[in-house]
Amino acid sequence: MPAVAYANGRYLPLDEAGVSVEDRGFQFADSLYEVIAFLNGRFLDAAGHFDRLERGLAELAIAGVPARPVLDQIARRLVARARIADGLLYIQVSRGIARRDHAFPADTPPTLVMTARGHDFARRARQQQTGVAAITRPDIRWQRCDLKTVALLPAVLAKQAAKEAGAFEAMFVADDGTVTEGGSTNFWMVDAGGRIVTHPADRRILPGIARASLLRLARDAQMTVIERPFTLDEARAAPELFLTSTTAPILPVVRLDAAPVGDGAPGPVATRLAALAWAEIGRQTGWRPPVA
Ligand code: PLP
Repeated sequence: MPAVAYANGRYLPLDEAGVSVEDRGFQFADSLYEVIAFLNGRFLDAAGHFDRLERGLAELAIAGVPARPVLDQIARRLVARARIADGLLYIQVSRGIARRDHAFPADTPPTLVMTARGHDFARRARQQQTGVAAITRPDIRWQRCDLKTVALLPAVLAKQAAKEAGAFEAMFVADDGTVTEGGSTNFWMVDAGGRIVTHPADRRILPGIARASLLRLARDAQMTVIERPFTLDEARAAPELFLTSTTAPILPVVRLDAAPVGDGAPGPVATRLAALAWAEIGRQTGWRPPVA
């Protein structure tokens, strides 16, 4: 599967694409990104991703980025050139290339980079049957986690710790005991009453596109969802935990640190939500998970 890139206005094989050493994304993490899934060559929830990117660009005052129809056209061309049916489109927009100085440069066009590469969604569907493990890590991030910046070092360290522990994800826990989110996922729990609980979309978490989609699907199915902070103690006592992201639309978490979650197997709420999530993915893209 050829992985391809768009950089500086050109479509290139991935290993031939590059950006300047003076790019502010590289120098300062002065940069935003998006990851959009495509299945059967069709983008999933593209509008939500572009909305989030535009909001982030406005918050950071990064101007001069091509309008959405242009970004959309570049993305489509890139996916077509990659000749990949199922994969991930990565978009990064930085404040551009300028002599290293912290304050914003004047009249500098932003850098726009995109890549497209394959992703095994069927594997995620299989992982749903067994569930995954997570570990807990202190949330040492900044106070604007709602912005999808490339300043991901705390997530890098937490996810490396998870990998070394043989776990899929690290659950971030704030100093006050609140479970915020995962290293690259949103976290959810089911409470003793069967209600679905997830952290509100404030500055402590990234407002996940998979999270927003699942909220809608659950509410449309008359399931009770509460957006409120929950604590690590609540998570440890919860009958079910699960996570969501573009790369893992919904995955039950069946072990947290050394302990089983609930009875240590995917629970009925996550299983029902997974069916709803795949049905929505099928509706948008025509993709169906292979039968296990
Ligand atoms: N939270 C964090 C910190 C993330 O990095 C991500 C995705 O990368 C998510 C949540 C999930 O967001 P989405 O559903 O838009 O992929």
